[in-house]
Amino acid sequence: MTAAQWHALLLVAYAVASVATLTTLMFFTDAAYGRHDSVEKAWWWGPGVPTRAAWIVMEAPSSLGFAAIYFIGENALQPVPLLLFAMWQAHYFQRSFVYPWKRRVRRGNTTPLLIPVLAFTTNLGISCLNATILSWPEISAFVPDYTLDWLADPRFIAGATLFAAGYYINRKADAMLAALRRPGERGYKIPRGWLYERISCPNYLGELIVWLGWAVATWSMAGAVFVAWTAANLLPRSLANHRWYQATFPDYPPQRRAVIPGLL
Ligand code: NDP
Repeated sequence: MTAAQWHALLLVAYAVASVATLTTLMFFTDAAYGRHDSVEKAWWWGPGVPTRAAWIVMEAPSSLGFAAIYFIGENALQPVPLLLFAMWQAHYFQRSFVYPWKRRVRRGNTTPLLIPVLAFTTNLGISCLNATILSWPEISAFVPDYTLDWLADPRFIAGATLFAAGYYINRKADAMLAALRRPGERGYKIPRGWLYERISCPNYLGELIVWLGWAVATWSMAGAVFVAWTAANLLPRSLANHRWYQATFPDYPPQRRAVIPGLL
């Protein structure tokens, strides 16, 4: 099979996996990490592994794996692919190697092994799809020409603007959560202020906007499939978190929605 055929096959696989994941997380189980780590766990979740190490290992393919695949491509040193590469890394280098140290991890907290195993594998596949569209000439039929003219295209401008807005929301929301616990604290509190007055999960809203922006800025099926995949994971998670807040805190502000202000 050619690289283009592999690419097309992987796109279809992620589209199918997104539907399966959405169905599973909406109707059958919550992903058993973080506040949901005490859900009734079947044996197949596997043993617990240290949470911080799990985050670094499972996110690393999205930074290092993406870079390796990208730099194999012949167009890797072209300016517009490099700019898109930098946008991706701005998010994923931070997510892989900075964010795990900023999370206030509960002492002794573990994550079931299945979570990092699945995340490692799927992050590698997503990185493969999105790195090859930037720098591999064999995949260029799937995307617009990333010449300097692309920087003036309304799709790039709109996508990059969304990406920057989502990035800001995601980073700020994550930082506000990290600030809720003082060193050594283990429990949960009601987040207050800013977007938290409207929704329970602004960090997930920011993440969704980042990848929507990426899909528009690259105008690619790889980007579109990645938004679908992110939504399949984060929409059910935000609904589960929202229900958890309402069940845990009797005084939880009733006007808050889960992830989309005024809607969901
Ligand atoms: P959570 O909101 O569940 O948790 C983030 C951190 O904040 C954890 O350390 C958590 O502690 C802590 N925390 C959360 N709520 C509270 C609270 N009310 N009081 C005190 N501490 C709190 O986010 P995730 O771990 O699911 O995700 C982290 C980041 O990763 C997000 O930016 C998200 O967008 C991104 N992500 C992206 C995915 C994708 O598909 N692209 C998938 C999953 C995450 P504890 O661990 O103890 O619960």
